Amino acid sequence: MAEILVYVDHVDGAVRKPTLELLTLARRIGEPVAVALGNGAADTAAALAEHGAVKVLTADAPEFADYLVVPKVDALQAAYEAVSPAAVLVPSSAEGKEIAARLAVRIGSGIITDAVDLEAGDEGPVATQSAFAASFTTKSRVSKGTPVITVKPNSAPVEAAPAAGTVEALTVSFGALATGTKVTGRTPRESTGRPELTEAAIVVSGGRGVNGAENFAIIEALADSLGAAVGASRAAVDAGWYPHSNQVGQTGKSVSPQLYIASGISGAIQHRAGMQTSKTIVAINKDAEAPIFDLVDYGVVGDLFDVVPQLTEEVKTRKG
Ligand SMILES: Cc1cc2nc3c(=O)[nH]c(=O)nc-3n(C[C@H](O)[C@H](O)[C@H](O)COP(=O)(O)OP(=O)(O)OC[C@H]3O[C@@H](n4cnc5c(N)ncnc54)[C@H](O)[C@@H]3O)c2cc1C
Repeated sequence: MAEILVYVDHVDGAVRKPTLELLTLARRIGEPVAVALGNGAADTAAALAEHGAVKVLTADAPEFADYLVVPKVDALQAAYEAVSPAAVLVPSSAEGKEIAARLAVRIGSGIITDAVDLEAGDEGPVATQSAFAASFTTKSRVSKGTPVITVKPNSAPVEAAPAAGTVEALTVSFGALATGTKVTGRTPRESTGRPELTEAAIVVSGGRGVNGAENFAIIEALADSLGAAVGASRAAVDAGWYPHSNQVGQTGKSVSPQLYIASGISGAIQHRAGMQTSKTIVAINKDAEAPIFDLVDYGVVGDLFDVVPQLTEEVKTRKG
């Protein structure tokens, strides 16, 4: 069976959920071979094997942490040359897309970014993308070289599928460009305790209707009752009510959770661009004519200051 390279996103050996989702998709088109780099790379093996990796190629070197991106591209290229895979899958983070693009250029292959689904096809894997602010769904396949495909978080379920997960050391020699951009400092982001916005299964967002930074506490309370991440519209961010890192939309982050709850958000095209592929969309808005209601699965016409706290209480009660 054809081998599929899966680039592993992990933090000191803890594999992040989008990589486990990639393993689910990789199993549809071949046998997953995972590539884990950097500190804790070998510690990823158990989780990767549990989710279907037949092999785990690992490499650790100070270059992965000390320099931007290129050492990782060198390593992924080394894995590509060692395995000759039928496809290379990479999580669609900013870094993942840069790694994938650089690899595609180096190996002379076509690339598909931000896929939301992947299936086997007669002439190679077929990727689904959501285009033009999710107005169109396209299916494409790479017609030149080995397909390099980046996949958005929440595009596939995480499935247990135990496999051998044999760990093999990957030999990497870094090129002259690898040490071109040095990391000179790191400041860890203060943790909110909430899931990462782009990876969260549930996102609760607030917009101009929230009417003040202090009122975001009710959005956060609903999010916490559901174990969700908090998002915000650009109007709320521009007003200084919530950080830009939480902005959802064309000039913010793109999310695709199982459940997206929009409160006091009108549903401008630029906001929709970042959330329209969410599986289930709920909106709370006091204006029954708000455009957001055109795309919701469930809509509540009402004042968010009445509805959201009641919803939070109901969730808490049902969770016992
Ligand atoms: C180039 C460009 C890029 C952009 N990028 C983004 C982006 O990335 N993300 C983004 O979000 N926007 C983006 N925008 C802005 C976008 O066009 C909208 O202006 C913005 O999304 C509006 O935010 P909003 O829905 O919170 O505010 P509004 O459009 O003002 O809507 C507020 C809504 O809250 C409702 N409301 C008010 N009070 C209550 C209440 N008490 N209870 C319930 N409902 C209430 C109102 O009925 C209204 O529908 C961009 C614009 C441009 C030009």
